[in-house]
Amino acid sequence: MRGPRRGRNPMNIHEYQAKALLKEFGVPVSRGLAAFTPQDAEAAAAKLGGIAFVVKAQIHAGGRGKGKFKELPAEAKGGVRVVKTAADVKANAAEMLGNTLVTIQTGPDGKQVNRLYIEEGASIDKEFYLSMLVDRATARVAFVVSTEGGMDIEEVAHATPERIVTFSVDPATGVQPLHGRKVAQALGLSGDLAKQAVALTANLYRAFTDKDMSLLEINPLVLTRDDRLVCLDAKVGFDSNALFRHPEVVQLRDESEEDFKEIEASRYDLSYIALDGTIGCMVNGAGLAMATMDIIKLYGREPANFLDVGGGATKEKVTAAFKIITADPNVEGILVNIFGGIMRCDVIAEGVIAAVRQMGLNVPLVVRLAGTNVEEGKKIIRESGLNVIPADDLDDAAQKIVAAVKKEAA
Ligand code: GDP
Ligand code: MN
Repeated sequence: MRGPRRGRNPMNIHEYQAKALLKEFGVPVSRGLAAFTPQDAEAAAAKLGGIAFVVKAQIHAGGRGKGKFKELPAEAKGGVRVVKTAADVKANAAEMLGNTLVTIQTGPDGKQVNRLYIEEGASIDKEFYLSMLVDRATARVAFVVSTEGGMDIEEVAHATPERIVTFSVDPATGVQPLHGRKVAQALGLSGDLAKQAVALTANLYRAFTDKDMSLLEINPLVLTRDDRLVCLDAKVGFDSNALFRHPEVVQLRDESEEDFKEIEASRYDLSYIALDGTIGCMVNGAGLAMATMDIIKLYGREPANFLDVGGGATKEKVTAAFKIITADPNVEGILVNIFGGIMRCDVIAEGVIAAVRQMGLNVPLVVRLAGTNVEEGKKIIRESGLNVIPADDLDDAAQKIVAAVKKEAA
């Protein structure tokens, strides 16, 4: 097992794993079984029994219901299908497995579906929305609740913000019945349904805090025709900094869903976050990394990533960091900005040179070094014979990389 992830990205799990976990905390979910083959899927349906089943693609992205499979005709159904018989389950499973599902959350490349979740079908009266997150401003767990379930909550927030209720829980008192009553009120529930909402709120809170989640989204939370509140979908992310105390959660990790770059970053204990721009950045210190990103924007380009190699990085770590940056096909230029205090400039230089020798360098590279052993660092780069553009300060470095990238493109 690997060590804890240091980056800010939470660790995500599949819907079926999230539901199994929530069930341990007494949260109501439909009965279901995971399946990896059409035969599995059929057997799962036979075991579940009943008159309706839902075949659900398991990928780490939402919007599956409205998603489209790349390999199937446009009129084919999406990644959440309600069907009637075990034979239908098998046929739909065969159509989905191995194919690529594109949703609003996957990006245009989509994600290959390798797992399915087969659930007993629920008959839905109403669809609600409920999510929980860590609100950094108040340092509390916050609830976001809305009657507008089953759709994109950002759209609801934009079009009808009055239909979203939020509140947070004081960690000193923990979750109280009053919080559950707020949820019930927000959803217009009374009587026994309000009681169910109170229990649900408490159980979700317990799951969230016990497991160190950073995000829990139930969309939709449904009211069934037989008057039960059931979590029909579940998206869970865990705080990466707390994974060390949850080996059972780390076990749920599906690396095929994760970005190669993020897996590598986790292995070398680097704080790495992929972004949409074209300038790869390798910096020491989170503050300097933010400043570097800002100044790249100032000169008209967008950073491709946030990457903090940390204070006492080794040559191996620097090499890994450089490989991660160059593995991003969007990167058109790389800016290394090291202000060496604890970090020695010669170590950085050796790491960069080693990585370039191994991987080659197809894009312009600007290196700005300052601080401890700066002269040795500069000398190593100069004598390497590699085409590295030196820079004196951050401003100079940002201007040089943007100019070099523009020249390449011209
Ligand atoms: P998402 O599209 O990735 O968010 O996947 P969801 O699990 O939220 O499913 C999408 C939609 O499918 C839900 O909003 C429901 O309308 C519908 N759905 C999911 N499960 C069931 C079910 O058991 N019965 C019925 N009738 N509809 C379902
Ligand atoms: Mn959903």
